[in-house]
Amino acid sequence: MKKSTMVKAIINNAITVTAIESSALVQKAIKLHKLSPVAAIALGRALTMAALMSDDFKHTSDKLSATIKGGGPLGDITVAANGKGQVKGMVEHAVVQGTTNPDGTLNVGAAVGKNGTLTVIRDLGLKQNYGGTTRLISGEIAQDFAYYYAESEQQPCGITLGVGLDNKSCKSAGGVFVQVMPNCPPDLLWRVETIMYAMDEMSYQFDGSTAKEVINRFFGEFDLVFVDEKQITYKCGCSKRRMDNIIKSLGQEECQAILAEQGTIDIHCHFCNKTYTYNSEDVQSLFTVS
Ligand SMILES: [Zn+2]
Repeated sequence: MKKSTMVKAIINNAITVTAIESSALVQKAIKLHKLSPVAAIALGRALTMAALMSDDFKHTSDKLSATIKGGGPLGDITVAANGKGQVKGMVEHAVVQGTTNPDGTLNVGAAVGKNGTLTVIRDLGLKQNYGGTTRLISGEIAQDFAYYYAESEQQPCGITLGVGLDNKSCKSAGGVFVQVMPNCPPDLLWRVETIMYAMDEMSYQFDGSTAKEVINRFFGEFDLVFVDEKQITYKCGCSKRRMDNIIKSLGQEECQAILAEQGTIDIHCHFCNKTYTYNSEDVQSLFTVS
C-alpha cells in the first residue's frame, strides 16, 4: 500500500511547520468512493488536513474527527485521523459535478457551501474530549480550518492545502500547516506570514517533491530543525467484530423486526464503502450464548 509521508520541523524555536505529501491518501479515497473531480478535491483537502491535525498525537489511541456541514451540493464531509497514522473520510454526495470559476478551476467553495459549520472533536484519552464548532468562511477547507484554530483553540496558524487531478486520478496533493508558538517574535511571524501568503496552488508544489523538500523550499532561509517524520495511510478500522456489536446493541427483537421486513440486515460503512450483510442465521448465532 502506498503511503504518504508527513514531516514536522521547528523554525527558530518559535514556529512549527508540518507538511504532508498526500497523493496516496487522495487516490485511495477517489477509488473507494468513486469521487467526482470536485468531490475529490474537497475530500482530498479535508483528508490532508485531518492528517496534519494529527501531527501532535502521542498515543496510538489518540483520534480526531472533523465534520464540514456547508449546505452545498456535496453535502456533509467527514474526515478522521488516529494515532496509528491512519486517516479516513466520506462525502455525502460523491458524484456531484461542480461548477467552474472564471479561471477554469473547479469552484470547491460552491460545491461544499459556506453557510454552515465545521466541527472538530479531539480525543486524546483525557477525561473529556475537546474541540469545537465554528462557522465556515469560504467552504474552500483551508481557510475554514484556519478560522477554527484561531477561534476555537486560540491558536494562530496558517494552512494551505492542494489537490491536483489528472483526469479522474490524483496527480499531486499536499498541505502545509504552520502553528505559531506564544514566544514567537513579531518580525519572524511577519516573515513566515509573507511566505505563506505567497504560496500558490499547493498541488504544484508537491508534484514530484517530498514534504521535506517543500518545507526546505519555503522555509530553508530559517533555522530549521526537523523533529518528526511519519507515514500516513488511508485505512478504515471497521471490522466484522465491530459490526457484530452493533447488531447485538440493536437487541434481538429489533433485529427480528428488520429481518421480517427486509430479509437481511445490511450495515454499510461510509468510510470504506463496505457492506456487512447478516441473514437470520447470522443474527441467531450472535444472540446464542455459547
Ligand atoms: Zn469501513
